Amino acid sequence: MKAELETTGNERPHAESTEPFLLNEDQQQLRRAIRAFAADEIAPNVSQWDENNEFPLETIRKLGAMGLLGILVPPQYGGAGLRYVDYVLSIEELSAVDGSIGLTLAAHNSLCANHIFLAGNEAQRQKYLPRLASGEWLGAWALTEPGSGSDASNARTMAEKRGDRYVLNGNKTFITNGRYADATVVIAVTDRKRGTHGLSAFVVEKGTNGFRPGKKEKKLGLCASDTSELIFEDCEVPAENLLGAEGEGFIDAMRVLDGGRISIAALAIGIARGALEAAVNYVKQRRQFGKAIAEFQGTQWKLADMATDLDAARLLTLRAAVLKDAGRKTTRESSMAKLFAGEAAVRICDQAVQLFGGYGFIKDYPVEKFYRDVKLCTIGEGTSEIQRMVISREILNVYPSRG
Ligand SMILES: Cc1cc2nc3c(=O)[nH]c(=O)nc-3n(C[C@H](O)[C@H](O)[C@H](O)COP(=O)(O)OP(=O)(O)OC[C@H]3O[C@@H](n4cnc5c(N)ncnc54)[C@H](O)[C@@H]3O)c2cc1C
Repeated sequence: MKAELETTGNERPHAESTEPFLLNEDQQQLRRAIRAFAADEIAPNVSQWDENNEFPLETIRKLGAMGLLGILVPPQYGGAGLRYVDYVLSIEELSAVDGSIGLTLAAHNSLCANHIFLAGNEAQRQKYLPRLASGEWLGAWALTEPGSGSDASNARTMAEKRGDRYVLNGNKTFITNGRYADATVVIAVTDRKRGTHGLSAFVVEKGTNGFRPGKKEKKLGLCASDTSELIFEDCEVPAENLLGAEGEGFIDAMRVLDGGRISIAALAIGIARGALEAAVNYVKQRRQFGKAIAEFQGTQWKLADMATDLDAARLLTLRAAVLKDAGRKTTRESSMAKLFAGEAAVRICDQAVQLFGGYGFIKDYPVEKFYRDVKLCTIGEGTSEIQRMVISREILNVYPSRG
């Protein structure tokens, strides 16, 4: 038994033990580069940012210089033009060190920039995407309101057309990057009678009259990410900032979420991997009853379940990413990845804290932060319950009753 626990000094991090057969050399290189950046520039600051609720804008700008704020944006708009698989790897690597960075990039890339790319006209793409992709501008995406979260189409923020402008009134809540964003995609009601076809999307720039951030939320976890209320009071937005067709903003938002949910799955995988790797190191060193706690079968079975959950989550997420890269509709696959990865990651982080015992509860050790951070993954971009609704709706559509 003891021999099995001895280290060779040559172990690969968990992520590399499973995927070389799935990833090409460029993707493995991308992962190594981000891992090195995270180790040098993020890891030394994680505790301070977390404890001070400090948004690390300078670090985000450096990630922009590396191309990570325009990962999915095509090169003609100044982006890196990479694929969803690359995006998943990037978010996982960053989130294994700090989920707050992963969430910040997820909101910027797959929500804000991607909505502008998917629904925007050529002039809007030319105006906004190069700035977002370079990191000169930070992006946010605002759908949720105090009274409408899961039931997002029931939004109350109004956008009334007056001549060559729309006038926005209302509040958005829980918006990632809200107070720092230079460009925010806002979903608002243009015709209440038309239901899901009565909402439209607008780009609202920082400094627009009548637009300001409200309360900055204090959170359970992901404390270095910004989560803010947004307030619109007679906020006049030029009609040219309407994204896509009037009335199609909510439908476009649902398409955007098909990509966004893949990024939340990647966030979950990253946080869970960080927790698992910390736990594996700890159980080899911590001794009780005269031996390393890694030698107890109870510990080994926990690690086996954690690693299996993690790999299953990663494979579901890579499947969704591969299908997205192939241009397929991934509503079902994205929701499955997000649902499973979010819930598996919560289980993994819970067990990591358990394996650390009392030290798992103490801030000197890394797992209490992973435990706090990970819970967002079953809530943001649609709760687990909403993912189950989406998946079952897709299944029932695909396999209609023959009765
Ligand atoms: C840190 C953070 C960052 C966020 N970032 C953003 C962002 O950038 N942009 C943005 O627009 N939003 C953002 N959100 C909002 C997030 O997407 C919502 O919180 C989420 O969709 C849930 O909405 P809610 O909080 O209003 O909960 P509710 O919708 O009120 O849900 C409460 C509970 O009821 C359940 N429930 C609701 N309806 C049903 C149903 N039909 N069947 C079964 N159960 C149901 C839910 O699953 C949940 O358990 C963020 C939230 C957080 C916490």
